[in-house]
Order: sequence, then structure tokens, then C-alpha cells
Amino acid sequence: MGRYTGPSCKLCRREGMKLFLKGDRCYMAKCAIEQGRTTPGVHGRRRSKISDYGVQLREKQRLRRMYGLQEAQFRLFFDRAARKTGRTGETLLQMLELRLDSVAYRMGFASSRKAARQFVNHGHVLVNGRRCTIASRVLKAGDAVEVINRPPSREYVKPLMDVAESRGYAPWINVDKAAAKGEVLHVPSREEIQPIVNEQLIVELYSK
Ligand code: SF4
Repeated sequence: MGRYTGPSCKLCRREGMKLFLKGDRCYMAKCAIEQGRTTPGVHGRRRSKISDYGVQLREKQRLRRMYGLQEAQFRLFFDRAARKTGRTGETLLQMLELRLDSVAYRMGFASSRKAARQFVNHGHVLVNGRRCTIASRVLKAGDAVEVINRPPSREYVKPLMDVAESRGYAPWINVDKAAAKGEVLHVPSREEIQPIVNEQLIVELYSK
């Protein structure tokens, strides 16, 4: 499956908000959004009236880019969320948040979701004691995620976990920094999920 290889900050500028795609840089003054850089492109500064469809599309693009998914992958997640009982938008957010790469990022094993995906793909992570290289795996409450017990992997995450701890962990995970592992305590509620998007607009977009 293809993946976006262009500049990450360009995506934030396009969406007009911080998507936190580049790790530490996102918390520094160097961040393009902090510097007030506008929409990329020749016509970036031009403001035209945006249609309802345009608003829905932007909302979807924001969420999709935040989690680093291609359109087909994102649509797959949406369809899976739609088949479950409950509110589709909220379920979609929960499923995205519970992806293994996202959980690994939340636990501080990597500085961004993109880096976390690579970390998982390269076999540095165990789920419930077994190696898992499927970054898109959706975890459940009670699942334990651990960095493989090899010196290079453990050394790599040490400083990253220090930074993550200083920023604070999500309330739905429990992290044991010394053991480089964590547990999903419960499925996060809507309030516990950080994406600042209106998921209802995404549901409306895909319901057309
Ligand atoms: Fe986005 Fe991070 Fe770049 Fe800021 S530094 S524009 S948050 S990717």
C-alpha cells in the first residue's frame, strides 16, 4: 500500500492546525503552525467560501492525516466502525486510537505515529508477550504492549519514554517506564481522545 512521503508540515499547513506528525519539533517554536505559516501553494492565502462538502472533506482529511492513513485504509476503518453498534464517528475514533502504532506512540515508544509504525513493523514490539508487526492491529482493553527485551530496542525508547512521561500519559493507558511496557486499561471515551475534529461531519461525508 502506498504512503505519503512528502513534507509533514505541509499537511498541517494545509489543515490549518497542528497534526503532531514530527515528534519533538511539533512542541518547538520551529513548528510551521507556531510560526503562522499559511496554506501551501501559490493560492495558499486566497480565502474562498467553502461548501458544506468542503467542510466535511477537510474534517476527514484532518483525521486521516493525523493517523497517517491512506484513503483506502481510512475508508476500511470507517466501514468497520459503521458495522459495529454505537455511534459510528465515536467508534471510528476509538478504533484509530487503539491501533497498535497509535498506542505505542501514546506509551512513548516513539516520538510520532509514523515512527511508531516503523518501530512496530520492524518487530520491536510485543503484544501480550508475542511479537506483533501489524501496526494496524486494533487493541482491546487489557492488552499489554511491551518493547522487545533487547538492549538496542530498550535503549532506543528510554529517552523517548522520559519525554512522554513529562508530557503526561493518556488516562486510558497504564505505562511502566522501567519495564518499557504498558497496558490498555479501557477503551477511550470520546473525551479521552484528543483529535480535535467533528467526527459527525466525516460520517455525513461517507453517508452521501
Ligand atoms: Fe505539524 Fe509538527 Fe510540522 Fe508543526 S512541526 S507543522 S505540528 S508536523
